[in-house]
Amino acid sequence: MVPAVCPGTADGWFRAAAGQTDPVAERLQDAVTAQLPGAAALGLVAPASAVVVPGTALADPGWTARQLRGPSDPRVAATLWWYSVSSVLVTPSLAGLVVGSPLSARLDDLSVAFSAGRPVAAVSSARGGDLATDLRASLAAVVAAVAEAGSARERPLWAIATDSLANRLLALGQALGDVGRATGLAAPLAAGVGPPLPPPRYEDVAGRRFVRRASCCLLDRVPGMPTCLSCPNRAPEERRQLLERLARGRWSDEIRNGRTPPSAGR
Ligand code: SF4
Repeated sequence: MVPAVCPGTADGWFRAAAGQTDPVAERLQDAVTAQLPGAAALGLVAPASAVVVPGTALADPGWTARQLRGPSDPRVAATLWWYSVSSVLVTPSLAGLVVGSPLSARLDDLSVAFSAGRPVAAVSSARGGDLATDLRASLAAVVAAVAEAGSARERPLWAIATDSLANRLLALGQALGDVGRATGLAAPLAAGVGPPLPPPRYEDVAGRRFVRRASCCLLDRVPGMPTCLSCPNRAPEERRQLLERLARGRWSDEIRNGRTPPSAGR
């Protein structure tokens, strides 16, 4: 079934489309975001103007194919799409895990907010159960859809999923001022999800923790886009030096001098 795309707020979607009118369920994520400084920037609050779709839409290859924009190569477009969507999709359940108030990772319980065609937030409307099992089911369903929509292989998309999981736990840990505890949750959770999700990895450089990527986002296949700072294909020492410059805030000098740094977010 092709899910409906419902304009309006997250609340509007819950009431009008999902039929999930339980006000207690609607407030579950609010209770989590209240404990997280910068929750909106983390993608846990759907903007009022966003277009909100049910999480199940993401498991539909036809719907996914219609969302792909930008690069003419569908594999590149689908990979970049998944790079953005996976990060938003896993954030509510990971936020619930980090603050100790479990939120469901099931697609049936999630809605995703889009602004100008880009995923900006996700909202979970139900209490979490077995997070690893639910994440596995959700990721498998969406990876299959993205792979079909973009004629892409599934394994590289699973690698993107593990980097999203690691990145979001890192961001949540930074928001809470407890990076060690939050990132310490990554490996056991990924092990629970199991293959083909690769183990998430981190590296500490100049006192700052970074994700050691398992994935390639294909960003540099897009004309005019920079190479990724944390590209897994870089020589380890080169990557460490670049991350050290980022950790020490030195890219601002490069930008002032008109040089485009590697994509710092990747
Ligand atoms: S720079 Fe590396 S990670 Fe980024 S798109 Fe190119 S190969 Fe992939």
